[in-house]
Amino acid sequence: MTNIGKQSAERCGAQVQDRCTAVLLAAGTGLRMHSDTYKQYIRLRGIPLFVYAARTMEKSSVITDIVVVTLAGEEENVLEILRRFGVEKKVRRAVAGGAERHLSVWNGLQAIDWPCDYVFVHDSARPLLDEPTLVRLYEKVRECGACVAAVPAKDTIKITDAEGVVVQTPARSCVWIVQTPQVFDRELITKAHALMVEQLEDLTARGIRITDDAMVAELMLGTRVHTVMGSYMNIKVTTPDDLPLTEAFLSQAGEN
Ligand code: C5P
Repeated sequence: MTNIGKQSAERCGAQVQDRCTAVLLAAGTGLRMHSDTYKQYIRLRGIPLFVYAARTMEKSSVITDIVVVTLAGEEENVLEILRRFGVEKKVRRAVAGGAERHLSVWNGLQAIDWPCDYVFVHDSARPLLDEPTLVRLYEKVRECGACVAAVPAKDTIKITDAEGVVVQTPARSCVWIVQTPQVFDRELITKAHALMVEQLEDLTARGIRITDDAMVAELMLGTRVHTVMGSYMNIKVTTPDDLPLTEAFLSQAGEN
């Protein structure tokens, strides 16, 4: 149903339930963790890292379906771990990811063969996903079709040249640190990724490296992507020194 159709249905008192699929990314190798265990399986407070965001999605009032993107050959193992931690109701499928994050997203998008209005792409390396952020994103995506969780930069950001010399200091009021979830109208993000895959060689030749999902929509379709307040606690576990802070945040959030 179109948004306008939904809005008029709502005015008539009808209950409208959008279908929101989460694409939960857990197909990285986490090289920067320098760990023998793949990052997504590292246990924090006794629970594998990737399970945290999945649990929040399972309990969420917004997310209706989940596709988990895993390392090739790990699909069954990941589903089994999720089941063990009580996450199974919304999990539709586990699929193998690709060599780069954006290719993992593409595999996740292609796996969706159930009704879906909006897609929430989320890094499982961000275990502190919270329900209020999911609700804010949902409200925004229904209005505008493309939005990302983000927080205002607290530090001044400098743009440098290749030698590390400052060439620009953007006004801090316009600088946001972008996180996930990144949320899109399903058709829009599927079309953007299909075009990106077609043009990947050309993008690579032009030195363009895709670092988030919004960038795919911006580059391929000129989409206006809106920022939505995320949370300063929604950090991404990337290197070993992120672990103590993440554990402290998890215990503050009462996660166990
Ligand atoms: O490596 P990094 O932490 O930046 O990856 C962000 C997220 O993307 C992680 O949750 C990781 O599992 C996922 N990823 C993926 N497929 C890749 C690379 C990363 O699903 N090829």
